[in-house]
Amino acid sequence: MSDLDQACRPSGSRDCPPSPGQPVAEAIPTRDAVLGEGMTIRRALPSRQRRMIGAWCFLDHFGPVDARRGDGLRVGPHPHTCLQTFTWPLSGEILHRDSLGYEQLIRPGQVNLMTAGRGISHSEESPAQRSPELHGAQLWIALPEVERHRDPAFEHYPELPVVERDGCRITVLVGETVGERSPVRVHSPLAALDLTFSAAGSTHIPLRPDFEYGALVLDGEMVVDGAALRSGTLLYLGRGRERAAVHCGAEGRLLLIGGTPFDEEILMWWNFVGRDRDEITRACTDWNAGDARFGEVHGYPGQRLTAPMPPWSNPG
Ligand code: MN
Repeated sequence: MSDLDQACRPSGSRDCPPSPGQPVAEAIPTRDAVLGEGMTIRRALPSRQRRMIGAWCFLDHFGPVDARRGDGLRVGPHPHTCLQTFTWPLSGEILHRDSLGYEQLIRPGQVNLMTAGRGISHSEESPAQRSPELHGAQLWIALPEVERHRDPAFEHYPELPVVERDGCRITVLVGETVGERSPVRVHSPLAALDLTFSAAGSTHIPLRPDFEYGALVLDGEMVVDGAALRSGTLLYLGRGRERAAVHCGAEGRLLLIGGTPFDEEILMWWNFVGRDRDEITRACTDWNAGDARFGEVHGYPGQRLTAPMPPWSNPG
């Protein structure tokens, strides 16, 4: 995905309250953003209240939308730096193409993980043969200093570990929990779980007290540690919890993410993660000039995106 919001604002990781050392239950409304033609998404991270949860620095909940309308999803070639993109479709298919030459269709139950390192570009589109509905989540993970200049990489995970417990289907997307370890390769202590209820039920999820956590409903309604939650609200849980009680009154789906608070200051603008303004300005200029560091995406039926210049850059 790409931040197509031309009114995008810079986001500094220190420009929000510090991570509390104790449990909190902070309801943070998501905000609507436009992702290409006719697709409104709900952005849960970054927000003014909370820029990051662990190294998770971006969380978009997209759909459900009618993918039969027009061309469906069309996000033209665009660059990324110093982050990993993590794509988790709930319904529908997305075709990924990148500057390393990967062309990978992703389906529900699978994860695409793209590691930008010093620079990569990719596109995302609905394939010609597709399901009627598109629904899912895309997250970005900030890379720590020691990894952020690494070579770009792409990995497709066709299967993730699943545990059935208390009528809840738990998919271990990232990290280790409920006795299972995800194969998804990340570079800081992180967790992500998908909890799917096909009927009313309750379960407990073990948490790490040194992690901060957040919960986002992807479908239906939930109660997380006593807090009622529905789509459109990110529940920030803070640190210091041993477990979370999750109750679902009917069908529903919850995304739970966590990690140790990311202690490096990052700056985000458009699709770039950096450490300072000069770095971000250079990334925008390089991309718009067609610099080789971002490579080239082949086969996408459309135009590449143009980076909006940040407000601090001086176009003279
Ligand atoms: Mn992207």
